[in-house]
Amino acid sequence: MVDRLVCTKPGCTRTILPSTAKTTGGPCMPCFADDENKKREEYIKKNRRDLNEFDGVTDPVEVLKIIHKPRTYDPLINWIPHPTPIEQLYHALSDSEQQRLADYAASLISSDHDGEAENIALCLTTFTGANLDTYLRACVAHGSIYPSLPFHRSPPDVRDTLIERVELDAENRNHILCALAWIGDASVVKLFDHWRREPPAWRESLYIPPENYAREAGWELSEGAQRRDLYFSRCTKLVKGVSTSPGSFKAIADTEDSCPWCQAGLTNLFDVTPSEFGISSGVGDTDRIQVVTCEVCTAFELVFGLIDQNGLSKWHPKNARPEYLPDDSDTWGRLPQDSLTPAGERPPLLAASQFVPTSFSQLGGHPTWIQDAEYPQCPECSKSMMFMAQVSHEDIEDLSEGIFYAFICPTCRITATRYQQT
Ligand SMILES: [Zn+2]
Ligand SMILES: [Zn+2]
Ligand SMILES: [Zn+2]
Repeated sequence: MVDRLVCTKPGCTRTILPSTAKTTGGPCMPCFADDENKKREEYIKKNRRDLNEFDGVTDPVEVLKIIHKPRTYDPLINWIPHPTPIEQLYHALSDSEQQRLADYAASLISSDHDGEAENIALCLTTFTGANLDTYLRACVAHGSIYPSLPFHRSPPDVRDTLIERVELDAENRNHILCALAWIGDASVVKLFDHWRREPPAWRESLYIPPENYAREAGWELSEGAQRRDLYFSRCTKLVKGVSTSPGSFKAIADTEDSCPWCQAGLTNLFDVTPSEFGISSGVGDTDRIQVVTCEVCTAFELVFGLIDQNGLSKWHPKNARPEYLPDDSDTWGRLPQDSLTPAGERPPLLAASQFVPTSFSQLGGHPTWIQDAEYPQCPECSKSMMFMAQVSHEDIEDLSEGIFYAFICPTCRITATRYQQT
């Protein structure tokens, strides 16, 4: 039997084989690894240097090119971020600067920097009114039809090429259908209606009927083959803070009722005066909408609410108990009360992609889907409900994620909430 040695590190009582001691110079393996890590951290701390690529760069287009440039991770470099938020930099671009950046993105399409081009195009689409004709033509010519949101700005020739291409290009069909949905003009509406009546031969290769791609872009075909928007065109940004106009807007307020499924207290996710924010309620005579939810159950199931004559909400009798409910839901933290406030209007598509560098809580506008576009069906009239507002959890609580969505069927006075996360 070999005599074991005690680790040489003060305070450690572990014993090791002499052969281990030979390798480590005395300490046990855990202590040895610990020391090596500390040495490495020390080295990084001592040799890490700040690198400010923006030093002396004043041209905003050049600044944005640097921001979008992909970087390889290096622990020895501390990249100094630009002091201005990216959204603000885009808002400040002049027309000619927007054009320069759009042309730059177009030039990247045929290179292997297309990820960079995608991000620039997404920001130009959502933050500016830039003309993207050249960029979109380059995308179509190169067969890169992703992300689809910028195709919202397609000129007619790009649209017509996509309409031809969708029949032949099985590999890109999914992206092309999304792009067509974002174009969503009279030609596309006609095409989608045609597919609804006569499904194309390639229908079987898709998970959903081709005309249902419209929902990814916030609309659907009505029974009369018209475009029916599923979101309000007015959009108000919501930021963290106690409501500055509590008479017309409140997000997250306890109610006196509790959930019949999990017994948690019910929450009014929103309580708003819709006319103040340009979202028509159409809900009887009252200018008030409360959107009730159960913070626990809505993570697993749609939660419907009924709005009464006074705009007050009630638990909908048709709510279905979630198939799964966690046992420990009584220990779940509650969302912070009265934690969002209106902060001015913004374009309705500004937050239409989860990859746009902005904040997502908003009233009206197009929703930010994290997964697929899931507009609930109204339990009364079976029509798709309209998106009304969303709370991005990270906006109101640190280290949180996911989005709570609120929907409404104005005709039936019914609301719904659902939650998505990555
Ligand atoms: Zn040790
Ligand atoms: Zn519940
Ligand atoms: Zn309805």
